[in-house]
Amino acid sequence: MEIKKIMRVLVNTTIEVLWTPGHAGLQGNDKADELAKEGAKDALQMPEESRIVTIQEVKEASHKACLSKWQSRWDNSSTGRRYYELVPTVNHKRRLDLPNKTAFNLILQLQTGYSTLNAHRHKIGQNVSPECKCGSPETTEHFLLECSNYTQQREILARSIQRLCGIPSLDMQTLLGTEDIPNIDGSRDRIQTELATYIETTARFETPAASSTQ
Ligand SMILES: [Zn+2]
Repeated sequence: MEIKKIMRVLVNTTIEVLWTPGHAGLQGNDKADELAKEGAKDALQMPEESRIVTIQEVKEASHKACLSKWQSRWDNSSTGRRYYELVPTVNHKRRLDLPNKTAFNLILQLQTGYSTLNAHRHKIGQNVSPECKCGSPETTEHFLLECSNYTQQREILARSIQRLCGIPSLDMQTLLGTEDIPNIDGSRDRIQTELATYIETTARFETPAASSTQ
């Protein structure tokens, strides 16, 4: 149709339309042609209803292809490896507001390592000592699992986790993973809520203005 339209405009011009065998003689191309023709034959022999592709199927296929590309990038990337350990699969819908947005964001910071804990601030060049008030480097692990300033809060957290999923001692994967604990539906949401309580009661991430009002 496009060519016909152009032909109508070109008056006083002789137009010859020729077929050019573009593939002829090139190694592999003839074979490809042959296979393409065979494939086309198969398509025509398919029952009518299976030849119809719904928009839903196209969407699903494209979603699947995107996820698979994203996953292989995530598997092979050299950045975000810390977060990768906690969240190896990309096909994961997370609730971004559990138990509330502020708490979720703090948990996300701990998962990625990009938090305002001193060890990270020091690492990215901010003019702070990497140390915690207790003297050890203030890493995520230190804040969650070790620091003696939060022993009491941590005991409460550990008891809740044990009650929820029977895991006797705290570890990073249990606290910061994003999947449910195997065979315990809904455990991730509940752990996240308990972790939020820990973070809140340590008051470690409160802004100076907020803590001075206490
Ligand atoms: Zn400490």
